[in-house]
Amino acid sequence: MTYDIFHLLTEAQSRLDEGFAHLPPAPTHALGEAASDILHQVADRLHDNYPYAHPLYAGQMLKPPHPIARAAYALAMSVNPNNHALDGGRASSAMEIEAVAALAKMFHWPQHLGHLSSGGTFANLEALWVAGQLAPGKAIAASDQAHYTHSRISSVLGLPFLAIPSDDRGRMDLHVLEHLLETQNIGTVVVTLGTTAIGSVDSLDQILTLQKKFHFRIHVDAAYGGYFTLASSLSPETRAAFDAIPQADSIVIDPHKHGLQPYGCGSILFRDPAVGRFYKHDSPYTYFSSKDLHLGEISLECSRAGASAVALWATQQLLPYIPGGIFAQGLEAGHTAALELHRRLTESPHFLAPSSPPQLDIVFWAVNAPTPEASSALAQSIFDEAAKNDLHLALAKLPVRFFPHNTWPDTPSNDAEIKVTCLRSVLMKPEHLLWLDHLWQRLQAAADSQVGSITR
Ligand SMILES: *Cc1c(COP(=O)(O)O)cnc(C)c1O
Repeated sequence: MTYDIFHLLTEAQSRLDEGFAHLPPAPTHALGEAASDILHQVADRLHDNYPYAHPLYAGQMLKPPHPIARAAYALAMSVNPNNHALDGGRASSAMEIEAVAALAKMFHWPQHLGHLSSGGTFANLEALWVAGQLAPGKAIAASDQAHYTHSRISSVLGLPFLAIPSDDRGRMDLHVLEHLLETQNIGTVVVTLGTTAIGSVDSLDQILTLQKKFHFRIHVDAAYGGYFTLASSLSPETRAAFDAIPQADSIVIDPHKHGLQPYGCGSILFRDPAVGRFYKHDSPYTYFSSKDLHLGEISLECSRAGASAVALWATQQLLPYIPGGIFAQGLEAGHTAALELHRRLTESPHFLAPSSPPQLDIVFWAVNAPTPEASSALAQSIFDEAAKNDLHLALAKLPVRFFPHNTWPDTPSNDAEIKVTCLRSVLMKPEHLLWLDHLWQRLQAAADSQVGSITR
């Protein structure tokens, strides 16, 4: 038996309304012709978007929310709870605590302190703010492939920031890290498990070995990649990095990236609940009617959508975080699609693929041309041509050193500044695996029309 989302929502809304049916009727906003007209205008305006939910959209990091998340969010909106304080949303606060505990359990943490946030950036801000409270003035270090907001967050917090170069696969160069740990005052290393550009995974297991010698805090930024801990398809080295997560001090993971949630759902987890002491505040407006923990007491943001917690909780009930479960299979499908696309690119005369297969579900490739400049121009025209045929890819300017060293013999491959515009695809929808042949045909057709018979 399958149900339509709007049917389920209408039924559940009546059930929710029953709980308040004893109240005298209060006026609500009536909707008339004007509202109908405006909603049609809204629908028309929203045509001005790429078709993010469709499998032929294989560009940026965008994944449609699960229908149950959408329905649960809409249902909660009729209450519009605020998870800042229990008085603003008791039920949704309880659901947030359970949903965050499910995230912590996925990383095998026996205890934790954590909450949802508006997104990964704010969650990372909290992680680095706590790091700064524990080690005032000490530097934050992250790889040059880490999310661009880490250096900006560090400057907001007044903490020195060090960018560690990445290796030819986009992972933090651990020789440079070790050297900087010897010579600089580094308090926290940000370890990215799944970089936003190419999905590379820093070697957390080896960084933990360095931690024994140098003593620093480890923050794992797994905003995009965190859920891959459930996937059985990872290479041994990628698996080793994910298996080390339980020993990190804090983790950021975004349910609005891979967790099938609408935007406005990031999260921060701390391994040591005692860091809650840094959040203490005594706002005179906050309505503390209960002695139980208010989420606003352990969060830097004040008002937050309780609906986000409700949507995440509902999705977790339907698709629990268990290895081998349907949710995990969806991640594996994307990873398998990425590996297959990389394999086909490797064999194609039109394209240049990096020598290592994708660690997660992001694939990037260059167009086969004599120079990085010519390759970049062709990438742009293939991108445009593919979009005309409804295949939506992304473009990314990446260092030429990410390609085999003899690719462009006249271009120094050790110069981090020399970049080539690549095509890039985040295959994060489970359906991408089934659609791979369609994607590939359209990509080849676009390349055929732009590259013609150019050979090197
Ligand atoms: C997306 C992302 C962020 C930022 O998260 P937002 O939810 O966009 O604020 C931070 N780090 C990584 C690794 C990301 O992929």
